[in-house]
Amino acid sequence: MHAPASVPVNVQVQLAMSVPDSLGETRYDSAADKLTVHWPADTNTPSAQARTDSFTRLLKQSGGANISGTIGRPTVWHPLGGTVMGDACDHFGRLYGYENLFVVDSSLLPGSAGAVNPALTVAANAERIMEQLILELVRS
Ligand SMILES: Cc1cc2nc3c(=O)[nH]c(=O)nc-3n(C[C@H](O)[C@H](O)[C@H](O)COP(=O)(O)OP(=O)(O)OC[C@H]3O[C@@H](n4cnc5c(N)ncnc54)[C@H](O)[C@@H]3O)c2cc1C
Repeated sequence: MHAPASVPVNVQVQLAMSVPDSLGETRYDSAADKLTVHWPADTNTPSAQARTDSFTRLLKQSGGANISGTIGRPTVWHPLGGTVMGDACDHFGRLYGYENLFVVDSSLLPGSAGAVNPALTVAANAERIMEQLILELVRS
């Protein structure tokens, strides 16, 4: 997905989102009692190449010129995940190993919402889960 942002005088900032080839993760170092975040470089991957190709086509078709020199930079605007469906919880957000504790936010989604902004996907998924959970909670 391309998301143009206009700036003055015949210049456009173009940012692209794509499905990342590899995801980041947090790791717990029990010896140091510390969490660290690991982000794999998203360069020289099929996803990064697809973005570069897409930008190059766009420039060619529009007769524009790249004045930034930054085509193909790694770009996932909204990294998601943390308690991913099928990993930390089931597909209705029920956390494994905990009674009546549910996840309904963007941490359910593995890595990204495809190549789009995530808010509507996050909200739709939360509604899907709540419809099911309300039925279960009313029954119990
Ligand atoms: C600057 C910016 C711009 C964005 N623009 C877009 C956009 O244009 N389009 C788009 O689709 N997405 C956009 N996003 C991404 C989108 O907002 C998020 O993906 C989405 O809101 C995530 O939803 P969520 O429910 O997981 O988290 P949040 O919306 O962050 O909701 C988490 C909620 O939990 C609450 N909370 C946190 N800790 C606790 C606690 N201990 N107890 C109780 N409550 C707690 C917080 O106060 C918050 O209300 C943008 C994000 C940012 C930061």
